[in-house]
Amino acid sequence: ATMPPLLSAIANAGRHGVLVKSAVVMERLGQVDAVALDKTGTLTEGTPHVADVRPVPGSGLTEDSLLALAAAAEHPSEHPLGRAVVDAARTRGLSVADLRDFTSTPGVGVTATVSGRTVTVGAPARLLDRDDDTATADAAEIATDLEAGGRTAVVVLLDEVPVGVLGIADRLRPDAAATVAALTGLTGATPMLLTGDNPRAAVRLAAEVGIPGAEVHAGLLPQDKVEAVRRLEARGRRTLVLGDGVNDAPALAVAHTGIAMGRAGSDLALETADAVVVRDELAAVPKVIALSRAARRLVV
Ligand code: ADP
Ligand code: MG
Repeated sequence: ATMPPLLSAIANAGRHGVLVKSAVVMERLGQVDAVALDKTGTLTEGTPHVADVRPVPGSGLTEDSLLALAAAAEHPSEHPLGRAVVDAARTRGLSVADLRDFTSTPGVGVTATVSGRTVTVGAPARLLDRDDDTATADAAEIATDLEAGGRTAVVVLLDEVPVGVLGIADRLRPDAAATVAALTGLTGATPMLLTGDNPRAAVRLAAEVGIPGAEVHAGLLPQDKVEAVRRLEARGRRTLVLGDGVNDAPALAVAHTGIAMGRAGSDLALETADAVVVRDELAAVPKVIALSRAARRLVV
């Protein structure tokens, strides 16, 4: 027997390195007319590295002690930023203390008990919005400075007092701009960028791939990503969400179609998504949409 078109298309998608989980998904991919992209790990390679280590003046910490503290709290983290912090400590040969009571809050950061003290590492916008003491003001100033240079700033708090900021750099995927252009061509609309990261770094990176500032939504929590997708779908847009993190899983679930980046993607994102980019090529996504459209023409 000849293979039904949608099954052939699934096999073809596999050749492009995309695991499409069912024939229904293969069919729905071709209906997509709007795209919402995550930034970290999706448009970027997701293998960020720590580029700056800046203790807050008066914290009493050195660069190395600041990094070791952050790495201790990030040790169990599966977030690309957490892995970058742990790798940087390892590269400098720092000894990293044991931790207890690790908790991770998607879109915010992590907290753990290290040597009896509470260490929190995460988004300046979420963690520096309390009172205006000198340490908070100093940390906010360092973070803004790093973000203006395109970095993702991550603040470190010791017993709730800001003690330093790390600047994390990530490379754009080589095929990011071409993929944005191809998705624009296929759907007739510029993809939207949905990110938990800071607006300064997000707008800067979006411009490099051809996404205008008006389509950039930064500082989002996982639920905010869901709301953005719901708003698109309420306007009748069948939205493709492309993401990699635990923070993307709720949006992947509510979208018309969700695709997860497989190599560095979190287990939750891979399980929730309708399809997975197993080989690490973003450019396979528009190809699979085109395969779906070709198969649908044969089915109907
Ligand atoms: P994106 O939407 O770009 O993938 P996330 O929602 O995963 O980003 O993260 C948003 C922000 O939350 C990060 O820029 C960072 O400031 C903070 N954050 C999240 N997880 C961590 C972590 N494990 N360590 C440090 N910061 C974190
Ligand atoms: Mg991400």
